[in-house]
Amino acid sequence: MNPLSQLPSVDRLLSAPALAALVDVHGHAVVAGGIRAVLAAARSELRQGAPLPDDAALSAALINEVGAGVTARMRPRLRPVFNLSGTVLHTNLGRAPLPEEAVQALIVAARWPCALEYDLESGARGDRDGVVEDLLCELTGAAAATVVNNNAAAVFLLLNTLAQKKQVIVSRGELIEIGGAFRLPDIMSRAGAKLVEVGTTNRTHLADFAEAIAGARTALLMKVHASNYAIHGYTHAVPQAELAALAHQHNLPFVVDLGSGTLVDLAAYRLPHEPTPAEAIAAGADLVCFSGDKLLGGPQAGLLVGRKDLIAKIKKNPLKRVLRVGKLTLAALEAVLGLYRDPDRLHLRLTALRQLTRPAAEIEAQAARLLPALQAALQGQPVSVEIVALNSQIGAGSLPVDRLPSAGFAIRPQARRGGVLNRIERSLRALPKPLIGRIEDGALLLDLRCLEAREEDEFAATLAGLPAALGGQAPA
Ligand SMILES: *Cc1c(COP(=O)(O)O)cnc(C)c1O
Repeated sequence: MNPLSQLPSVDRLLSAPALAALVDVHGHAVVAGGIRAVLAAARSELRQGAPLPDDAALSAALINEVGAGVTARMRPRLRPVFNLSGTVLHTNLGRAPLPEEAVQALIVAARWPCALEYDLESGARGDRDGVVEDLLCELTGAAAATVVNNNAAAVFLLLNTLAQKKQVIVSRGELIEIGGAFRLPDIMSRAGAKLVEVGTTNRTHLADFAEAIAGARTALLMKVHASNYAIHGYTHAVPQAELAALAHQHNLPFVVDLGSGTLVDLAAYRLPHEPTPAEAIAAGADLVCFSGDKLLGGPQAGLLVGRKDLIAKIKKNPLKRVLRVGKLTLAALEAVLGLYRDPDRLHLRLTALRQLTRPAAEIEAQAARLLPALQAALQGQPVSVEIVALNSQIGAGSLPVDRLPSAGFAIRPQARRGGVLNRIERSLRALPKPLIGRIEDGALLLDLRCLEAREEDEFAATLAGLPAALGGQAPA
């Protein structure tokens, strides 16, 4: 008898209780598709001479396989994770987590029609930037503001608007590359501007800029914040106020790409000071651009603030329409900017700042509370677990050299057995809510800075699934 004919039919498998339950959740098409795929694979194995189990065992195996396949396929790809990497604003993990106020605003804007481009007083068409423009002006001291998709877009749009076919003068020490392929020289050429580099890597003087100004061929002077690197030693950079004065003598705009854009002096929260848009505006900058989701702690966005005439020109560029943000971004941004009106409570309410300002002692106490759960999860593994002092990074190209004293767990192999840490690290990533740590100096480190108190129970419950995840992996 042909063994292929012994395979159950699609309909018979669909009526199995476990798969019927999956149909209720995911629908007929998905489960039937999963069954067909599994049957096709089984047929090809049988043709290659694989032994055929008895009928009951065969059906059970096929049902299990279909169930696992459908569940894996229907799981969202954009899944929440525990960020234990020690990098607070982790670009690969979505940068700033939004505060509750922003989450609520997002839900309302998502669910209901909203006055996005609608002036409720006149009943006429409005401007979507109006949702946040007043707040941005209030918080930065600028006269006007606009919002685009991210800071890379802001840089691109301002260069394309103000410097097409003209020269932009930048110090050689500031030709930055940001992760994810943002390279200032490339953005500049795509925007149609001509880069004029002045000075040297470590030292640039006012005279370098002055000598490079070429009458009507020059569009603007630009300063780019060295977000993700630091040049130490024999260095000189021209202060913003001097560059602004030089630009203005020549009737040129002075533009600053700040990168990260916190709106408060972080020193007030015992963090290293990061230049603010308000400082740049006060120093005479005509335009400043910065990210919404770095130190600002909001949604991905590029914020442009500055002179009214320049912002108006930027908003008239057809590319503004290409790069504009949606209502969800504006809703979240409005809520986050609103928190800055109350600096006294900002570090409690703005999630990114709350995580950045967590004292190491508090994180260590949390580690002590959670240690038993981790020890239980690693029971029987050839590793040791201990609470250690760690150094967190701010991340997202912000304050690259500063470290924040933190605490967490170090998991180390008991013997010089390679592979066990990688196996655990992989299993932590395979949990329903993956745990993302880092391997450093022969230890798997889990930095608890970004684990909020309200997540502790979920964290412990997730760890309880680790033995099963480890069991599913071949020992190294
Ligand atoms: C991060 C950064 C950018 C890019 O901002 P995105 O929000 O990632 O698009 C541009 N310039 C500087 C100086 C930056 O630090």
